[in-house]
Amino acid sequence: MRDPEVQTSAQTCCLCGDPYAGHGNNPEPLSEAGRCCDDCNSLRVVPARMNIIYKRIDDLVEEYGPPSEEDIFTRLQEEKQSDKQVKYV
Ligand SMILES: [Zn+2]
Repeated sequence: MRDPEVQTSAQTCCLCGDPYAGHGNNPEPLSEAGRCCDDCNSLRVVPARMNIIYKRIDDLVEEYGPPSEEDIFTRLQEEKQSDKQVKYV
């Protein structure tokens, strides 16, 4: 979501310190303040968020064990029958 308050003139990336133009990007979880450039967003922020998701999956598998093929098949069948679309957001 774009913040209309954010200036479009050159800003300084909170992660690498380079100037960037435009609205910048939310740097969480790497920083809780400031905005970051597109390069840092693509190369650092997005991978950091993916790592959080992978870690969560690893924790779930460790706690509950991996899902069986039957679990996955049953879930897919249920989703198909309910016309529910799986959303990867
Ligand atoms: Zn940067």
